[in-house]
Amino acid sequence: MKEFFPEYYKNFKCIADKCTHNCCIGWEINVDDETMHRYKKMNNEMGKKILENISVDSQSFVLTADEKCPFLMKNGLCEIITECGNEYLCNICSLHPRFKNFYTSFVETGLGLCCEEACRLVLTYKDKFKIKIDSDVFLTDEEEEFIIIRQDIFSILQNRNKSVYDRLVELANKFGLEFLFDTQKLYDLYTSLERLDSNWSQKLENLKNLDFNMDIFHREDMQLLFEQLSVYFVFRHLSEAIWDSDYSCWISFVLVSVFVIGMLFSYYTYDLKTFDFEKAFDLVRMYSSEIEYSDENINKIIETIN
Ligand code: SF4
Repeated sequence: MKEFFPEYYKNFKCIADKCTHNCCIGWEINVDDETMHRYKKMNNEMGKKILENISVDSQSFVLTADEKCPFLMKNGLCEIITECGNEYLCNICSLHPRFKNFYTSFVETGLGLCCEEACRLVLTYKDKFKIKIDSDVFLTDEEEEFIIIRQDIFSILQNRNKSVYDRLVELANKFGLEFLFDTQKLYDLYTSLERLDSNWSQKLENLKNLDFNMDIFHREDMQLLFEQLSVYFVFRHLSEAIWDSDYSCWISFVLVSVFVIGMLFSYYTYDLKTFDFEKAFDLVRMYSSEIEYSDENINKIIETIN
């Protein structure tokens, strides 16, 4: 199966021990059958240690009391990679923070924004997002229609002659939607969702009674970030619409996600009028981890706003 990647993909490199929100903390890590088979065949001390740290019931690594992967070393590196090499990583660990969208005869692979380094790369990428699918790839009628619609959406979102706000309004109108949400209803909705991290709860708390004027979508220094963010959400989620042609439902998810992140930025990222990009990347990372990896949360957002 052919695999296609956005142009920026090749520039990604995990920063491992320099990462402040290591992905080896706080997530359940399931071991796939093939890797499990390899671990069982290791027949050495490291193999024994690995098997001792995998739950028989769930076939996942048994996390420490502070929710860390048992193979995350004090220096921030992975003991399995250090001792055995990359090929001994289970599928989840080798894939992360990448995501894959499968089509009939090809797959698209992107970088998920639950990783702080992926946020830095994707949200500051100066060129327009591009992914090229070979012309000889077989597409079903639905997939062909999807590629055309998606390209049309990318063109709207990447029209740098307009402010990002105007582009989002144009996108919303095209699908019979509005780029405007009741901030109190969003506060109620997002605080009702399943949560991973108590820091996220604290961030959401300050959105209560926020007087959000949307100026942030007009700011010159925010244009690139919001363009790449909205294009990312389209790239990651719109393919779900192939199955039922409900494009507007997925566009509403893109719009509300950008809107809520705009609210969070407005509250948290300005210090004496200077925008703090590192704080912004951290908020996007949290949004991605809390929302994009939970079908339950995504479905509840879509059901509530539509
Ligand atoms: S979150 Fe990203 S940069 Fe950090 S350890 Fe994981 S893959 Fe590497």
